[in-house]
Amino acid sequence: LLILCFVVASVAKGATGNENYTIIVSLDGFRWDYPTMYSIPNLQLMAHLGVRAVSMKPSYPASTFPNHYTLATGLVPDHHGIVNNSFWDKKTGIRYSMGDSATRNNPSYYLGEPIWVTAQKQGVKTGNVYWVGSDIAIKNTHPTYYKIYDQKPMISFEARVDTVISWLRMKSEDRPRLIMLYFDEPDAKGHHFGPRSPEVAKEVHRLDSLIGDLMKKIKQLPVASQVNVIVTADHGMTEISPDRFVKMENYLPARWIDKADGANPTSLFTHNGYRDSVLITLNKIPHIKAYKKEEMPASLHYGTSDRIGDVVVCPDCGWQFGSKPSTNKGAHGYDPDAPDMQVAFYAYGPDFKKGYVSQGFVNVDVYPLLAYLMGITPEKTDGDFDRVKDLLKSK
Ligand code: AMP
Ligand code: ZN
Ligand code: ZN
Repeated sequence: LLILCFVVASVAKGATGNENYTIIVSLDGFRWDYPTMYSIPNLQLMAHLGVRAVSMKPSYPASTFPNHYTLATGLVPDHHGIVNNSFWDKKTGIRYSMGDSATRNNPSYYLGEPIWVTAQKQGVKTGNVYWVGSDIAIKNTHPTYYKIYDQKPMISFEARVDTVISWLRMKSEDRPRLIMLYFDEPDAKGHHFGPRSPEVAKEVHRLDSLIGDLMKKIKQLPVASQVNVIVTADHGMTEISPDRFVKMENYLPARWIDKADGANPTSLFTHNGYRDSVLITLNKIPHIKAYKKEEMPASLHYGTSDRIGDVVVCPDCGWQFGSKPSTNKGAHGYDPDAPDMQVAFYAYGPDFKKGYVSQGFVNVDVYPLLAYLMGITPEKTDGDFDRVKDLLKSK
């Protein structure tokens, strides 16, 4: 019985016995170079106390649902199934969209294993405020504590910070060891006003202050010395303009296409016999590239999922392809190698080095990093712990 008790206790602590807590914060659309453009004293303090990366590369396509779910699973979108914010699923003939709660909340779309499921399987508690997938019964599991995105009114940014702090004030057996916290800014301001705008400057400053509050409140906790904090994002943001737009209907007769979905990229399911016509036509147009799904550039890791069209149209960064240009001033979704798509990464706490700058890594590497920080055994993923271990103190 004693041995059994010991085994249960060590599982609850995590397989490698790391007893620290980790908070990962996503600031949606926080481009890698906002810190050089705008005032961010608290993130600077984080870098001083811990580590930062020059930039972290998102996965393709550089959009919200694909990338938050990549951060959670360590899989590229082609492998975890959320291949864009919306897509047409050829197998079922149903269109998934993040904006449609019936499909968004259907667990069958979400492949792979989110980190909170891996943790809970190993007896480790987690808390979650609005991370993509956290309020969906993926593998029949939810985080121990979580909030429902559809439940209105939504929780204010300040109350989200207080929720996280209240979880860390729970008694030790209830306290979550991993907390994931999502903010839908500066993405919204970036779309509306463009990444180089006074509105984004103000929002970035506000978010930085919020991070400052989080840091201060952590400092007052009894477990302060055990808390790691990571601040990062899903994708960047680039300027767009109606002048950089290619109108699909000017080139493709309706009979050539069965279904077209998504922007940056657009997935085309071509009508039988018209695939080559579509490719030849589109590849004469400057500023867009059209690929057969099986011939996508290897660097994008995209093209095997059933949910991707047989032709994928990728506009150059800052260009648009579709039926009508967006009225927004900012957009994302483009090639992760485009600097504007890359994101900031800051972290501090007992497991991180102090004052260290990494040249960067890929967002699939965050899942193995989180697994390490919780001391749990990760699933096999597209991530590589070796690319992030330089951030960590040696044990
Ligand atoms: P995007 O179009 O890629 O910029 O998507 C950003 C939007 O995704 C945000 O403004 C939110 O409305 C939405 N979003 C983010 N997280 C969630 C979530 N967990 N559930 C539902 N919608 C979300
Ligand atoms: Zn986003
Ligand atoms: Zn966005």
